[in-house]
Amino acid sequence: MSLSNGQPYLAIPGPSVMPDRVLRAMHRASPNIYAGELHDLVSGLWPDLRALAGTTGHVAAYIANGHGVWEAANANMFNRGDRALVLAVGSFGHGWANHARAMGITVDLLDFGRAAAPDMARVAAALQADTGHQIKAVLATHVDTSSTVKTDIAALRAVMDATGHPALLAVDCIATMGCDEYRMDAWGVDVTVAASQKGLMTPPGMGFVWFNDKAKAVKADLRTPYWNWGPRAAADEFWQVWCGTAPTHHLYGLRAALDMIAEEGIPAVWNRHHRLAQAVWAAVMGWGRGNAAIALNVADPAARGWSVTSVRMGAPDASRLRAWTEREAGVTLGIGLGMASPEDPHSDGWLRIGHMGHVNAHMTLGALAVIEAGMTALGIAHGPGVAAAAAAIAGADGG
Ligand SMILES: *Cc1c(COP(=O)(O)O)cnc(C)c1O
Repeated sequence: MSLSNGQPYLAIPGPSVMPDRVLRAMHRASPNIYAGELHDLVSGLWPDLRALAGTTGHVAAYIANGHGVWEAANANMFNRGDRALVLAVGSFGHGWANHARAMGITVDLLDFGRAAAPDMARVAAALQADTGHQIKAVLATHVDTSSTVKTDIAALRAVMDATGHPALLAVDCIATMGCDEYRMDAWGVDVTVAASQKGLMTPPGMGFVWFNDKAKAVKADLRTPYWNWGPRAAADEFWQVWCGTAPTHHLYGLRAALDMIAEEGIPAVWNRHHRLAQAVWAAVMGWGRGNAAIALNVADPAARGWSVTSVRMGAPDASRLRAWTEREAGVTLGIGLGMASPEDPHSDGWLRIGHMGHVNAHMTLGALAVIEAGMTALGIAHGPGVAAAAAAIAGADGG
């Protein structure tokens, strides 16, 4: 007998759970794109998007997913042949670097593995070695969704300042916008990218690039008509914002999602994600006390993302467990992504728990209890984890 009927929980790191309020906002006839309420709605989005990123800078929006806004950011920062320094802590850092290379940008890749934050001494050395200031921009991932490693962006900025390097700082916040604390201007970030389907609780299909005047002023001959952020951010005509037809229904959904974030308050949204993450970490550490194969991928709590957690379980247990939680209990967990080793080419030994966007205590505790039930049902050894998670939800872990 399966116990999966009822509200399913898609606990993968994007697309995330869509609130009913977002879904209802999208359930409507096509609006006029030439005048009227859609224009008013769009004008109202920009202040909220700026507040969310912590910037007074410019915003360009695209009909694109995360890969699209990587390309948008690259196109607007670089000339063909320019140099980028990319910090990779997982698959998405490598992905952004690959897009850059394919666009004719020369990439210096700093690979920090998949389990720890970037070593800032290596970053400093790379910047110091670039005495001619050939590096036009540093590309970093706030939280790499594959490894769930977080990069300390303020620390990265401090290293760039300390070395006196004039490069732009560009940050991929696709997994973290509306989840983890992020302060674009205060942390000295020049370009930020995010997409609609994670912390923004809206279907995949919209991407955003925030940029400041310093980034706007650089010469970039890769700025093709569609990706050029200039007309989008400073449109004389509504169609220029989108370079064509607007993503009509996404906009109604996004409006509802931003309203929900504003009503909760941005710091409260961050705190909710942090507390739920602490519950997940407590559960995994508890399970690991009864089975040495089970562990958080990221040992240092300061280097863990707040919206998704990568867990090592060993193969085939991670895959068996994911199948069980979906089939028997209605909880879909994320696959391990790019964590492959020669012994585990398909990342079978890993899973990821999404706790991103429209999630609350009962959803996270429910998912964790289901995982623990699955381990019991499948005979996977584990220590008690859910009680520790409940204590973390109650704030009993000291924060
Ligand atoms: C999801 C994600 C991406 C890719 O986004 P798509 O919408 O799948 O193209 C890139 N970077 C990070 C950090 C992500 O979480």
